[in-house]
Amino acid sequence: MKAARLHAPGDIRVEDVIRPEPGPGQVLVQVMAYAPYGTDVGTYLNRGGRYVKSYPVGIGADFSGIVAQLGAGVEGLALGDRVSALALDHCGICTNCARGRHNLCLDPAFCTPARQTCCEEYTLVSARKLAVLPDAVSFEDAAMLAGPVDALNAFRRMRLAAGDRVGILGVGAMGLGAVAMARALDLDVVAIGGSGRRSELAGELGAGHLFPIGAHGEAVAGRVLETFPEGLDAVMETTASVWGVEQAFAVAAPGARVALTGGGALPVTNWQIVERELEILGVRAGAGQAQVLEFIASGQLSLRPTITRRFVLDDVAEAFSLLAGPQARDVGRVIIEIGETA
Ligand SMILES: [Zn+2]
Repeated sequence: MKAARLHAPGDIRVEDVIRPEPGPGQVLVQVMAYAPYGTDVGTYLNRGGRYVKSYPVGIGADFSGIVAQLGAGVEGLALGDRVSALALDHCGICTNCARGRHNLCLDPAFCTPARQTCCEEYTLVSARKLAVLPDAVSFEDAAMLAGPVDALNAFRRMRLAAGDRVGILGVGAMGLGAVAMARALDLDVVAIGGSGRRSELAGELGAGHLFPIGAHGEAVAGRVLETFPEGLDAVMETTASVWGVEQAFAVAAPGARVALTGGGALPVTNWQIVERELEILGVRAGAGQAQVLEFIASGQLSLRPTITRRFVLDDVAEAFSLLAGPQARDVGRVIIEIGETA
């Protein structure tokens, strides 16, 4: 089978590799569509040496496909089922899994994320990670779940209801997913950051207030506060960058809830958190894949308008060159079409 493999930062090749066999509890999935996001670009470049420890290595996490082979003991799935994979594995029986918070599984065998790869014709997945797609959800729709799933988790924990206002830092793959999820919940979206076509896409998805930036790393919080002088009550940071976290806290009103999805040091002191009574929420993916699929199936959420380019697997190097290059500001979502009917 064909598979993309990284051999060095910026060096991705499509190679022939042996098709894997599913072990107990595993499923072999024929990958139909793969939508790269920021973590994949970080992996492609191995930014900061943080992502890849040894080469060659596969890539990709957000995908959909068709069940091609079942390992021993797999129940509830059948050959030919259309599926997407959840970000994290889980045991299904611990206290947090029983509470529906399987992204916080307590079983040590599952709570450390195993590296998923999907930029290949077939990939092995733990059966528990798979969600069956409603008929109305296309493979492309189902390859872009990570952003809305994170956002649904964040918005619920920020206790947001229809009509509430939320600031979303960043309009990359995760940010656009958050904007779409927010609009599906009828939230008033303040999209902060981004430039070029990406910022326009946030507006087309329904963000009511856009604060694009002219250059990477430009401080934008001051402009947001000119429009909203009291600050924002809820802010979701999606860039996992020092810049994004700084801007998120700068626009947060006293008493605000700030949801964080990635790295960067906190730009506030303990005392500032106390003085402003800030609520800081960590968001580790989410457990709401089934709900997001229902929002897509019912037509309330669609990221398809954000797809600006499609590539076949053989052209994956061109896709990553685009996503990592200066033109990325004008690229929404990119789909790698792998199976024949994606
Ligand atoms: Zn568990």
